[in-house]
Amino acid sequence: MKVKTEGTFDASHFLENAGKCGNLHGHRWRIKVSVKGEMNGDLLWDFRNLDEVIEELDHTHLNETLDFNPSAENISIYILNRFKNDYPDLEFKIRVYESPKSYAEIETNEY
Ligand SMILES: [Zn+2]
Repeated sequence: MKVKTEGTFDASHFLENAGKCGNLHGHRWRIKVSVKGEMNGDLLWDFRNLDEVIEELDHTHLNETLDFNPSAENISIYILNRFKNDYPDLEFKIRVYESPKSYAEIETNEY
């Protein structure tokens, strides 16, 4: 079974050692989550897990909210590790869009 969901949040950041991206700026970040696994009940995964992450990050300055350099790549790793830690039996694919055209994507080995 696979389930997919997505959500957006608004947040500022800057990237160290990244030219123009080193200036403080904001994005409407869009997160897409795909979950794959064996059914064990009526639901595979609760979509509210993504809502929780978005609630934490929305309208924050990501350099302060997160304890790593907040690139789209690093944010995708952070979300993947968090979900995989909470649901080790499921496989995840995470996309983090920092613009409508550009995203970072990561997935667990078995996805
Ligand atoms: Zn940026």
